[in-house]
Amino acid sequence: MRLPGPFAITRVVESEGPFRAPDFILPDATPALFAQTATSRDPRFYDAANNLLVMGFYSLIVRTARNVILVDTCVGNDKVRKLPDWNRRNGPFLADLAAAGCPPESVTHVLCTHLHADHVGWNTKLLNGRWVPTFPNAKYIMARAEVAYWEHERTTAAEPPNHGSWEDSVQPILDAGLAVLVDSDYEIEPGVHLMPAPGHSPGNIVLCLDDGRERAFLVGDTIHHPVQIERPAWASRFCWDAAQSSRTRIAFVERVADTGAWIMPAHFPAPTAVQITSGNGGFSYTTADQT
Ligand SMILES: [Zn+2]
Repeated sequence: MRLPGPFAITRVVESEGPFRAPDFILPDATPALFAQTATSRDPRFYDAANNLLVMGFYSLIVRTARNVILVDTCVGNDKVRKLPDWNRRNGPFLADLAAAGCPPESVTHVLCTHLHADHVGWNTKLLNGRWVPTFPNAKYIMARAEVAYWEHERTTAAEPPNHGSWEDSVQPILDAGLAVLVDSDYEIEPGVHLMPAPGHSPGNIVLCLDDGRERAFLVGDTIHHPVQIERPAWASRFCWDAAQSSRTRIAFVERVADTGAWIMPAHFPAPTAVQITSGNGGFSYTTADQT
């Protein structure tokens, strides 16, 4: 699916649909408070009959004149995970990627906004019993602060962090010499640079795009669900530091509101891209088909 915004941005979906209850994903979203939001009346984003937020897991592909940048790599196939819907998946993601004009060999950069299990899965694939890089010609861009944190966690935590995804989806990339560890404001090329957005994870970053005509921010899990644009103080249960996550999100929403920039998080279901507007003391959003 082609998205609006600068350069050429497409979305390749691994899975999408009703996922979890609002107050599971966002502990502050009690039934009474969630019911006050416009999002609670939007069936694209909330399955009211089953009280489930609709969420997607997908990669975003940014094609510039020079590069093919794959942003976040979902859960992946064959990964052993405790979550049933993530365990030993066997989906057609790579075929779908190729059908979108993006065979693995064509990818020049893989960008992980952070290193949670649902953002690194397709970094690797299982080949003859070994995890090998899925994108052999790509530089895998990771924020140095994010890598340093999880590397430390991995040696000190009682259980492998992030569902064990470091071992099968990050370490093989480091071992293959394909990882490029960068500062959180790194520029991939003019008009394509990173911005630090700590809180969801310690080294969480946003990809900022500006082709001179339009701007977009690929924010990963800085915003999990559209309702957090209406209620930017609501952090997710998966945030490393909920208070910092809230501060980062509030500052971001204030900054981009009314600028016309496109916002593309990692889990917004179709149509995925939104623009943020301010008014009546708060924030709201419009989707591409509404503008
Ligand atoms: Zn995520």
